[in-house]
Amino acid sequence: MAKKRILTGDRPTGKLHLGHYVGTLANRVLLQDEYDCLFIIADLHMLTTQPEKERVARVSEFVREIVLDYLAAGIDPERSTIFVQSAVPETAQLNLIFEMLVTVPRLERLPSLKDMARDAELEVMPFGLLGYPVLQAADILLPRAHLVPVGKDNEAHVEVTREIARRFNRLYGEVFPVPDVMLGEVPTLVGTDGQAKMSKSLGNAIFLSDDEETVRQKVFGMYTDPQRVRADIPGRVEGNPVFIYHDAFNPDVAEVDDLKERYRRGQVGDVEVKRKLARAINDFLEPMRARRAEYEGRPGMVDDVLIAGTRRVRGIAQETMCLVYEAMGLYGPQLLKAYPQPLNGSDMPALAYC
Ligand code: ATP
Ligand code: MG
Repeated sequence: MAKKRILTGDRPTGKLHLGHYVGTLANRVLLQDEYDCLFIIADLHMLTTQPEKERVARVSEFVREIVLDYLAAGIDPERSTIFVQSAVPETAQLNLIFEMLVTVPRLERLPSLKDMARDAELEVMPFGLLGYPVLQAADILLPRAHLVPVGKDNEAHVEVTREIARRFNRLYGEVFPVPDVMLGEVPTLVGTDGQAKMSKSLGNAIFLSDDEETVRQKVFGMYTDPQRVRADIPGRVEGNPVFIYHDAFNPDVAEVDDLKERYRRGQVGDVEVKRKLARAINDFLEPMRARRAEYEGRPGMVDDVLIAGTRRVRGIAQETMCLVYEAMGLYGPQLLKAYPQPLNGSDMPALAYC
């Protein structure tokens, strides 16, 4: 039996961080054998909050960083497919069809879109940002994926995908699976500033590619319990970012329990807690740094991975669009299918698929 498929990915707005790892990347690495994994670098999604030309100009740099982050984290390009969203034009075709299958109030109710608009300092909601989850549905359903490993902020978006899949199937016939969402071990990792979410655009992230000293500095600058101005004052462990990170990245459970106990009693200084945390995070990142260095030494590798990925995904995408147009009986594709000779005498095929 063919493997079930995963589709998930990231916007090329910066390098990947610890939040990505615990929110989704760890699951992706884990499921590579069990599923046919497709990972999308969603540059069209980036345009929803950052359409400026200077931003677009940086995409190639961030795409490269993200591919290296994937490989460093343990994604194997032989087993998994990595591609760039804007290299797959069928995404836009499917997006347009899906826009008819969801209402504006449904999208307006999503708090994540308001958060994104606020974080990007947008005063009014752009049409494209409102359509973020619809475009995401096109990403997920174009390869007819069954499972979507994401962080908590994306859970509600996948619900929109599920509704669109059901609605399409009801209107036109069964084409799409209704994909399941899979949340990570830590569905939302708090930022180093103690703010709700570590995010590449908010300056509160520890990146997977940070060197040892940078990690140390970021950990030492972390927000802790603000009430605790001296080491002998009992501190709060629950909700405290340094302990959330200890739980997520320090495998020495006995050490973490001991630190928590002494912190609660006011018997340990922040310096010791943070020194041990910096060491744990550096130990966690060390194998990734080594793998990254190895891949960085292979020029052309990133492009090769992306080209191979795009070729594969476009094949799947064209298959899906064929199924979609057949199911809908949309006139244009049918007309062209009946006249398969090239249009206007050139070598342009009447329809690239079906
Ligand atoms: P941006 O600030 O540009 O939106 P981001 O850091 O939120 O960037 P995305 O590319 O939007 O990153 O998200 C990629 C994936 O990583 C999504 O599945 C998202 O849910 C997950 N993710 C991002 N940040 C976190 C976090 N702090 N904790 C858990 N998961 C996260
Ligand atoms: Mg985001």
